[in-house]
Amino acid sequence: MTTGVLTEAWNEAPRVRLLADRPVAPGGRYVLCWLQQALRARDNPVVDAAVRLGNALGLPVLVYHGVREDYPYASDRLHRFILGASVDLAAGCRERGLSCVQHVDRAERREKGLVYRLAAEAAAVVLEDQPTFVARWQAERVAARAEVAVFAVNAACLVPPALIGDDVRGRSGFLRRHEPERAAWSTWNDERSDVAPYTGDVPFEPDPLEEFDLDDLVAGLDIDHSLPVSAMHPPGRVAASARLARLVTEVLPAYAASRNDATRSEGASGLSPYLHFGVLGPREIMAAVNAAPAGGQHKRKFADELLGWREWFHHQARQLAAPERYDRVADWAHRTLADHAVDPRPEMETLTAMLVGETSDETWNACQRQFLIDGWMHNNLRMYWAKRIIAMTASPEAAWATACYLNDRLSLDGRDPSTYGNIAAMFAGSPSDRERPVYGRVATRGDGSTRKREGGDAWLAAAASRPAPLLAIEELPVDPYLTGQPTV
Ligand SMILES: Cc1cc2nc3c(=O)[nH]c(=O)nc-3n(C[C@H](O)[C@H](O)[C@H](O)COP(=O)(O)OP(=O)(O)OC[C@H]3O[C@@H](n4cnc5c(N)ncnc54)[C@H](O)[C@@H]3O)c2cc1C
Repeated sequence: MTTGVLTEAWNEAPRVRLLADRPVAPGGRYVLCWLQQALRARDNPVVDAAVRLGNALGLPVLVYHGVREDYPYASDRLHRFILGASVDLAAGCRERGLSCVQHVDRAERREKGLVYRLAAEAAAVVLEDQPTFVARWQAERVAARAEVAVFAVNAACLVPPALIGDDVRGRSGFLRRHEPERAAWSTWNDERSDVAPYTGDVPFEPDPLEEFDLDDLVAGLDIDHSLPVSAMHPPGRVAASARLARLVTEVLPAYAASRNDATRSEGASGLSPYLHFGVLGPREIMAAVNAAPAGGQHKRKFADELLGWREWFHHQARQLAAPERYDRVADWAHRTLADHAVDPRPEMETLTAMLVGETSDETWNACQRQFLIDGWMHNNLRMYWAKRIIAMTASPEAAWATACYLNDRLSLDGRDPSTYGNIAAMFAGSPSDRERPVYGRVATRGDGSTRKREGGDAWLAAAASRPAPLLAIEELPVDPYLTGQPTV
């Protein structure tokens, strides 16, 4: 059976899930490779799987990447980042001898159901296995409606998540399975296409994005223009590679000691936006880290973050029906927060004050302004930021929805397994011995780890007064975070 080349006779087979068990269409013109988030042409198991299947069927691969105006939180910031990645994706596909067509949905080029229309001409569909938010909803819908075999391939993790097994619960059990696998999954070969690139028709007029002025294109779309692009995280492969080079030369040599210091701009890698949108994958990053001239303790610490924590949250998300929903928070934390839901909340803030980073808490404002301006926040600040939201909102449910909403709307790396996994950890973690108002036995967190550093007070004051974009919100979107209802 031809499709066995993906699910049996391939060293990457553990990355592949048969999402729709239908036959390969005999008259298919290509293998459709639909990318949503793994926006890179090389070191990409989704593309490799499509090429491998195409070779077995004697068919070319057609890579498709499209962006709609109506995904949740569509903004200049997210759109520009995605489109920059898409330009490099298409160029990289061409270098690999693969056709890549792109579409940016807009008033003058409205297209309905493009993935289905492309799938109707395909022998099979290969898409990415993403466990959260839009990418998951859309993949599940396409798998339900397409009339051909649909394969989902994991490109986000170094170790294929299926190898860990569904019986693992705690992080230490996860690490016991994950660590011994890492070496075997650290190298890769880009599959070579034996078939000439697809040059036939497609059911729409593609947008060759490299010929567009992307800033102009984004400015003309019906999306949120109040959230500007991030100067700290420019879009595209060149910027991502520069960040990776900076990790090796400036960050890694002191990573274990400086990673927790939010006041140091070179303390952490800043790679999470590029990882979230798949501009870089964990294998390429780890290859650079392993070859770096830094000390072993720094490399081990970095691997613990990138592999030990990031892939742990991917593992958790895969096991949950809706990883973004409040009911994922540990039962004991749910109960203790519910017991204190009626407590007086003297530190309540309005949603608008929180959104624009103008609450009465200077440290919180400093955190929020990183999200607002940089589209990213330092890990140490994120912990304080999330914990404080519990006291600033009317109920535990409102706190959860607010934290997820702010993270998802503003941060380039939001809407990710690490988003909801980390927020859930801040809403639970180890229970405190002390019962406090509002928090119950959920541990609180002060700002000492930043404020008590030399120059910490001045750094926080400056960070809290950085000029930030003035955003607006009418109503907190609660559906995805409380009921798990898709909003697109
Ligand atoms: C409340 C809260 C919300 C968070 N939301 C997100 C989010 O939306 N998206 C996101 O990618 N990360 C999130 N994190 C995890 C972490 O804060 C960021 O990944 C990290 O700050 C990104 O910066 P960096 O790339 O410089 O990290 P570095 O310190 O350079 O780490 C390298 C990479 O390791 C991974 N990593 C590091 N820390 C963690 C962690 N705690 N959990 C999972 N992976 C980690 C990231 O992929 C990161 O890019 C959140 C953490 C908290 C406490």
